Amino acid sequence: MTKEMDIGVAGLGVMGRNLALNIADKGFSLAVYNRHPDPVKEFAAAAGDKPVAACKTVEEFTRALKRPRRILMLVKAGVGVENTIAALKPHLEKGDILVDAGNEHFSVTERRERELSEAGIRYFGMGVSGGESGARHGPSMMPGGERAAYEELAPILTKIAAQHPDGPCVAYMGPGGAGHYVKMIHNGIEYGDMQLIAEAYDVLKNIGGLSNEELAETFSTWNQGELESYLVQITAHIFTVKDPEGQGQLLDAILDASSMKGTGTWTVQDAATLTAAIPTVASAVDARVLSSDKQGRVRISKVLPGPDPAKAAAVAQARGIDRKALVAAVRDALYASKLCSYAQGMNLLRLASIERKWDLDLPEIARIWQDGCIIRARLLSRIKAAFASDPQLPNLLLDPSLVEDLRGRQEGWRKVVSLAAEAGLPTLATSASLSYYDTIRRERLPANLIQAQRDFFGAHTYKRLDRDGDLHTEWSAGS
Ligand code: NDP
Repeated sequence: MTKEMDIGVAGLGVMGRNLALNIADKGFSLAVYNRHPDPVKEFAAAAGDKPVAACKTVEEFTRALKRPRRILMLVKAGVGVENTIAALKPHLEKGDILVDAGNEHFSVTERRERELSEAGIRYFGMGVSGGESGARHGPSMMPGGERAAYEELAPILTKIAAQHPDGPCVAYMGPGGAGHYVKMIHNGIEYGDMQLIAEAYDVLKNIGGLSNEELAETFSTWNQGELESYLVQITAHIFTVKDPEGQGQLLDAILDASSMKGTGTWTVQDAATLTAAIPTVASAVDARVLSSDKQGRVRISKVLPGPDPAKAAAVAQARGIDRKALVAAVRDALYASKLCSYAQGMNLLRLASIERKWDLDLPEIARIWQDGCIIRARLLSRIKAAFASDPQLPNLLLDPSLVEDLRGRQEGWRKVVSLAAEAGLPTLATSASLSYYDTIRRERLPANLIQAQRDFFGAHTYKRLDRDGDLHTEWSAGS
């Protein structure tokens, strides 16, 4: 079988195997290759009579593809991609398109694009979201690189993407590392969403006293309305799953220490580079870091004073807040905080696009996130509409219809943050969202004092309200 196959997939782990089956289902012929041979044999068996070239070597793999070759790599980021490029490169030719469809840092993608362009190879970075099931049945994809290369990939990508009434969940993001960058921001927003949901769970469980069954019901109800999203939907389901190894629900048997792979941290790092404020996303990363030291928290819980979270339910009772009112307040807090998380992510995309000349299309990004990916949510159609009707919108929260939404959520949002503080329950992301909101809407902040302090100790100068110019004061002789 030579020069026949439409596309190649290198790397048959969780994502590669499923994306390759998806490609085969859509009627494309493909060649597959994996560093270790067993996944290739297993894939050939799973593909049945579909047109698949199961290749044992890179030579066989690259020989099997139509020219110019289109190859998707789905391998471990970093050294896995380096090794795969090194193995493939001697067998590639000018004009071939090599796509890294894993989670790579955008700057690494840009370096590889430059290096491979010397050999005429069109290197392409593409974020893929949706996990195992998305890859199999239709992911959301964020491709970036040379536009002409995208046009050659598009006939396949548009078929294998999640199909939403607004179109397939894939679109050209921009040049260079734009695709991997958009995926990184997607993941940052995902971190924010997940942490906000976890905090809502904590407040409902510990202040409201809701059982897992009641939590499942609450999240299912929320999933019928404005909070409708994949993450709320799977959360409702998680509360119903029994522990296969014991009594009760599986969730209660899971260690309260979350880990991460890096895209959240990358988002925070790049936000700092671009001086963009993303406190909800940053708090979500911090929350994972703090949670990971379980032993330390157990030790410190016996030392540091404060309200006892085990007695949190008494706080709502003392304030006369019944369960129904608490559930409504938590729903409002989650919705308003989620808006802040998306606002921060979209703002970071806007700033990165200006800085790196990517010309990112925000409504189009919101469109392709409407299905297939982990942050898919009903809210995204409003975000799409907000940026489509005003491309210069300086902050998502200023969209007139969202301003009205936020007006109606004030009481519940503030109640949840204050109740949790009183009860000793941490709400890193929910309170960061509220403080972000209050900061951007406040005409006068205490930053005058920061200016004064900087000028005091470092002669950094300050500006005045009533006239222009950089001024310096000798605040204290001899200090
Ligand atoms: P898996 O761990 O399931 O598969 C990893 C693949 O990388 C295998 O083909 C493996 O080959 C290959 N590989 C690992 N180390 C090396 C190495 N040192 N040199 C060469 N090849 C190597 O990963 P996933 O399929 O889950 O992830 C692939 C990419 O997709 C990653 O970048 C990941 O971050 C990203 N991604 C994953 C998602 C998920 O839900 N799993 C969602 C979105 C993106 P071998 O079989 O020979 O070990």
